[in-house]
Amino acid sequence: MSSLLSDLINLNLLDITEKVIAEYIWIGGSGIDMRSKARTLSGSVNDPSKLPKWSYDGSSTGQAPGQDSEVILYPQAIFKDPFRRGNNILVMCDAYTAAGEPIPTNKRHNAAKILSHPDVVAEEPWFGIEQEYTLLQKDVQWPFGWPIGGFPGPQGPYYCGTGADKAFGREIVDSHYKACVYAGINITGINGEVMPGQWEFQIGPSVGISASDELWVARYILERITEIAGVVLSIDPQPIKGDWNGAGAHTNYSTKSMRNEGGFEVIKKAIGKLEKRHKEHIAAYGEGNERRLTGQHETADMNTFLWGVANRGASIRVGRDTEKAGKGYFEDRRPSSNMDPYVVTSMIAETTILQKP
Ligand code: ADP
Ligand code: MN
Ligand code: MN
Ligand code: MN
Repeated sequence: MSSLLSDLINLNLLDITEKVIAEYIWIGGSGIDMRSKARTLSGSVNDPSKLPKWSYDGSSTGQAPGQDSEVILYPQAIFKDPFRRGNNILVMCDAYTAAGEPIPTNKRHNAAKILSHPDVVAEEPWFGIEQEYTLLQKDVQWPFGWPIGGFPGPQGPYYCGTGADKAFGREIVDSHYKACVYAGINITGINGEVMPGQWEFQIGPSVGISASDELWVARYILERITEIAGVVLSIDPQPIKGDWNGAGAHTNYSTKSMRNEGGFEVIKKAIGKLEKRHKEHIAAYGEGNERRLTGQHETADMNTFLWGVANRGASIRVGRDTEKAGKGYFEDRRPSSNMDPYVVTSMIAETTILQKP
């Protein structure tokens, strides 16, 4: 970048004005693509209900017919903008028709209903989501760090690995990590994954709907950073066919009763309820998950429900610490990397708290 461009993009608006820039973010027609556009506000805002609603052309995102194309954005959560900095903000929105009906890709609306149900609120559900993803070379759609048209050595040295022949893309990963902390996202950590060019970040534990808002905005920030780096972000559940690790979004979960004395018994009951609805959960846990949940790699195959302590081959894993303390949380290993967290977290709460046996 020329030094003048770099000066301009780093202008500090606070020096001369109260105005701030708000980047409105929403989920596009595929249900996983992210869209955003920006507008100027007259001053700083930190409550989403004080932000104006806005509209976009849904016929350009596969979300509305051309003759009635207006879709309305409702601001739902505010984060600090790590790209524009200052008082500028990122705004996670959900989308409605002009008549006020949530559009089909708006999974947040129903999730918010479930997660604000008094019985759910009383249980203070915490979610910790592990987002695995793969970096791809832009023009060939082949993993970052892999020889073009060829393969790296077999898996083994890459998970949490270091060194130029084992860790590919750390600058992107670390930029994303700090940008998320800056934004006010409750990011837990990052690590290199089993397949080279594959990484993970975790969100949480965060309460209720906020875990999903945070995960979506963290995905958005990652897309913006990979865009700058000229690398393509993939959250496909099995980006490379064959004996290569898939990509999941393990969802860690606890309620107040699970975190309190006697919690392990509550956890076992919840797992029993999840087993009864295994098929429904699997159907909602991400497109293409059948390519990942073959049972060949970590996590049980799609048609089997299996749980265990410290068992990474299971559908649901309870940690040793939880078993030992007799309370804590469990990990649902089934969701794929491209899942919609609004769907997954609200469904877990619905099955384990609202469904009566
Ligand atoms: P793994 O060993 O499966 O790789 P990670 O360390 O990557 O686990 O992720 C664990 C996740 O669990 C983190 O996102 C963390 O925030 C979350 N977590 C920790 N404690 C709880 C809890 N009590 N309830 C829900 N989630 C939790
Ligand atoms: Mn992990
Ligand atoms: Mn992982
Ligand atoms: Mn995990």
